Amino acid sequence: MHVQESPYQIFFKLFIVFVIGFLLGYWLDYIWPILFFISLVFIGWHYKQLHSLANWLWHSKTISPPESLGLWGRIFDGLNKKIRKLRKRQKKLTEQIRQYRDGAEALPDGAVILSSDLVIIWANSKALNLIGIRYPSDVGQRIDNLIRYPAFVDYLLKGDYQEPCTIPSTIDSNIQLEMRLMPYGSEQFLLLARDISQIYRMETMRRDFVANVSHELKTPLTVVRGYIEMFEMSSDELNSMWKKAFTTMEGQITRMDNLVEQLLQLSHVESTQQNSALQTIMMPMLLASLIDDAQWLNKNKQHHITSHIDETLAILGNESEIKSACTNLIANAIHYTPKAGKIAITWQKIAGNAVFSVADNGVGIKAEHLHRLTERFYRVDTSRSRDTGGSGLGLAIVKHVLQRHNATLDISSEWGKGSTFTITFKQPPIILSE
Ligand code: ADP
Repeated sequence: MHVQESPYQIFFKLFIVFVIGFLLGYWLDYIWPILFFISLVFIGWHYKQLHSLANWLWHSKTISPPESLGLWGRIFDGLNKKIRKLRKRQKKLTEQIRQYRDGAEALPDGAVILSSDLVIIWANSKALNLIGIRYPSDVGQRIDNLIRYPAFVDYLLKGDYQEPCTIPSTIDSNIQLEMRLMPYGSEQFLLLARDISQIYRMETMRRDFVANVSHELKTPLTVVRGYIEMFEMSSDELNSMWKKAFTTMEGQITRMDNLVEQLLQLSHVESTQQNSALQTIMMPMLLASLIDDAQWLNKNKQHHITSHIDETLAILGNESEIKSACTNLIANAIHYTPKAGKIAITWQKIAGNAVFSVADNGVGIKAEHLHRLTERFYRVDTSRSRDTGGSGLGLAIVKHVLQRHNATLDISSEWGKGSTFTITFKQPPIILSE
């Protein structure tokens, strides 16, 4: 390390050298040649320092600049200090990056960093085992060039990454992957691929089990119902206790029948993701027949049912599924509204979307239940739901049907005042000519 000299000291040293040169020149009677010689030595020395600096910058492999004296020594020391500082910072950054990468490697999921235009920047080693993405050889490729499942490509194009998408692995189709894209860093994305084969298998088993049991229950129920009806036909020979018993039995069999029917419906709508049988649904006609049916359901409660139907509005979908969703909402409004209530059914185009809604002035639902209503078997008041013959499956069916139709269900309700269930179809509506 060189001693730091002030500009004054440097100038003073220079001055002394020239004064000595001048005196020597005066004494030898060679003033100008000696001063010229001293200047030449100075220029030569500076040139040598510049040369060794340039040499070090371009050719040297050492990180320390060359040694020197005076001002040059200070310049080289300064450079040395700066380089060491930068090296230290670089080392720290490298260490941090290594820690992040180690963290990403330790993840049980495949992780891929993508640029804003979905080009691969980095991937961990699990990404290779799960989705076949190699780092660094796949860097620079678009992710949808390597994973071409339509469900995944649609997911990328949709731009809504709130929910993950499920696809089979590109390496082993027995592995089911949950792909989740999330914003990361500045204008980048992190793609996580999680192996959910186990959960998927359990879900499939659960669905199959429910579907099979429900299916198997149908025959015994039909047989039991047949016998009960037989006994009821000969009810004249039965005493009042048995008559009551058979009526109760029939009621319970009807309940079980409905439950089995709903379980089968739910298994059906859960088992396929995409809706294959899309057709134009003439909603005005469908709703007219549903409202007619509702009048029959309504005969005990005597609600005032009004409807406001846009006769020109149709949608694409699976008619029996949409019918089931709308029927569930109308039936709930009838069941959960005390006698002589008001029910309004509407089918309208609102903000460019086809919207179906059922509003009632019935018992309403407390806010804390609203987010759980579409869970299977969830019932707000089990005793009341049992009275209405409810199973807690109706809204779960509605939810699954709507998922398959790119539609949403909004529920607004006030405890004791009534509820409004609104279905918004997020597809361009079809306008029928009148
Ligand atoms: P359930 O077969 O019990 O009617 P749903 O899934 O159709 O099952 O509904 C779940 C719960 O939501 C019901 O048990 C009921 O408590 C509540 N609910 C549904 N619709 C209404 C409504 N229109 N008014 C008040 N509560 C409702």
